[in-house]
Amino acid sequence: MAVVTDTSNLIDVHEWRFTALTDIWTGDAYRRGDRLVRTGLLGSVRWWFEVVVRGLGGSACDPSDRWDRCPGPHQDPSGSSHRCVACELFGCTRWARKFRFEVTDPTGRPVVGAIRRNQEFILRFVPLRPVGREEWALLDLTLRLIAEYGAMGGRAVLKPSDEPARENRPHHRDYGLVRLEQTPSPPLVACCKEALREYVRGGRARQGGWRQVEQGNFAWASLQNFWCVKDRYLARQDTTYSSFNLVLGRKQDKSEKERKGKRIVRWSDLLEDPKDEVSRWLAGRRPGGEGDTGPASKKVLSFKSPQEGRRTFGFVKPDTVSFEEIKSRLKKVWQDFRPEEEFLTGEQILDDLCHQRGGSP
Ligand SMILES: [Zn+2]
Repeated sequence: MAVVTDTSNLIDVHEWRFTALTDIWTGDAYRRGDRLVRTGLLGSVRWWFEVVVRGLGGSACDPSDRWDRCPGPHQDPSGSSHRCVACELFGCTRWARKFRFEVTDPTGRPVVGAIRRNQEFILRFVPLRPVGREEWALLDLTLRLIAEYGAMGGRAVLKPSDEPARENRPHHRDYGLVRLEQTPSPPLVACCKEALREYVRGGRARQGGWRQVEQGNFAWASLQNFWCVKDRYLARQDTTYSSFNLVLGRKQDKSEKERKGKRIVRWSDLLEDPKDEVSRWLAGRRPGGEGDTGPASKKVLSFKSPQEGRRTFGFVKPDTVSFEEIKSRLKKVWQDFRPEEEFLTGEQILDDLCHQRGGSP
C-alpha cells in the first residue's frame, strides 16, 4: 500500500459502493442521525466478519456477549494475544479500531437517516493505523458475502431482538439486501484461502497468536455452518399457511392465542413440537426456555423481493441441526427443490468468494 503523506488525500482509503435493493434496517436509525446508521452497519459488518473468521478456523469474540469479550479479564489489550483477530481490526475496550468508518452517498456526503431502497451508498474505511493486507482481504470477503449470500443491517438481521413486541413486525425479512457495485480501486492484494486461514489462526510470525475465545453461545455463527439457496424464498402465504414457519417447525396458524398486557401471543409463535430440539434451535428458543418468551434469534432468513436479491439462508449447529435436516425441511416446502445443485454450504461459498478474488489480483 502507498505511504500516506498528505492526510487530505488519503490514498489508502478503501471504499465499497453499494445499491440498496431493499430498505436497510439499522435499528434506531429510523430516528434521524448518521451515527446510528454507522453504528448499525458497522455492527453488522463486524458480525459477518466474525462469521468469516470462525469459518476459516479462527476465533472471534462477540462484543455483545457479556461473558467473553476481549480483552479477557486481567489482560492487557496492547498484547495481541489478549484480543481476538476481529477485535484486532474492529477494536475492543482500550484498543481502538484501526479505521474510521463512514457511510456516504456517492458525492461523499454522510448518509443521514435510514438507507432506503434504490439508494446508493458507500462504506468508507479510512485507516488510522496500518491495516494488514489479510485484514483488507477479509473485509472484502465479508462485504461480498453479505451482498451475494447474506443481508446487511443492524442487529435485527440475526441477533436476538431486544423487544419481543417487535418480533412480529416485518423487519426480519425483506430488509438489508444490497448489490455491490464497486470494490476498492486500486484492487486489493489478493489473498488465497490458505493465507487467510493461517492469518486468522494466528500463524505466520505472530508471537503467541490471537486470543482464543470461549465461543460456546455463538460458535454456530460460522461460515462452516452457513448455507444459502439463491432465487427461492419462504413466506407466509395466508393466515393459515406459512412455508417459513413450516421450515422453522412453528405452528402455521397466525391467529391470536392470548394477550399478555400489550403483548400478543399468536399460535404461530409456538412450536409444533415444543420438545423438538431442531425446531427449538432454528426458531430461536432457549434450551429449557418457556417456549414463547425470551430472545428470538431465528437461524433461517428469507428474502422474497426484489427478485434480483431473492434468497434464503441460515445456519446449522453441529450435533443439533445438520445440513441434511435443513435440506429435507426445505424439500417439504419447495417441491421442485434440487438440493444437490441449489443448496450451497459456507465452504462452497468461501471457495467461490476466494476464487473470484484469486482471478483478479
Ligand atoms: Zn475479541
